[in-house]
Amino acid sequence: MQETAAELLQQKNIKPTAMRQLVLEILRNNPQAVSLLEIEQQLDHVDRSTVFRTLKTFQENCIIHKIDDGTGATKFALCSEGCSCNLGDLHAHFYCNKCGQTSCLKDHLIEQPVLPDGFRFESANYVIKGICAACR
Ligand SMILES: [Zn+2]
Ligand SMILES: [Zn+2]
Repeated sequence: MQETAAELLQQKNIKPTAMRQLVLEILRNNPQAVSLLEIEQQLDHVDRSTVFRTLKTFQENCIIHKIDDGTGATKFALCSEGCSCNLGDLHAHFYCNKCGQTSCLKDHLIEQPVLPDGFRFESANYVIKGICAACR
């Protein structure tokens, strides 16, 4: 059985405030990545900065990761269990040209690139574009 949002937060030593639980529920209920705006729209009367801070806390604790899919809106998706948000956890994302949804391709890990001498790898952004299964 899956733990509740409150339990998951407690496991990460994050105080399970009502706002944090709500935001986490939204992220868990969406199989695709969601933007700040989409989260805001699913909550009544919330202050954008509160949602923003909540998302920041989640990122710092490796509950979610952010995705730049090239649409200009940063999106957020849940991390896998055991994810530590390090280079080995970097994976590709899929952007659907039709519905505009972005999903994680967690099996598609990004390999460490071969860089010129003296260069250091810190992150990568790999977005595959096409048509998702639901739209085909
Ligand atoms: Zn689609
Ligand atoms: Zn992802």
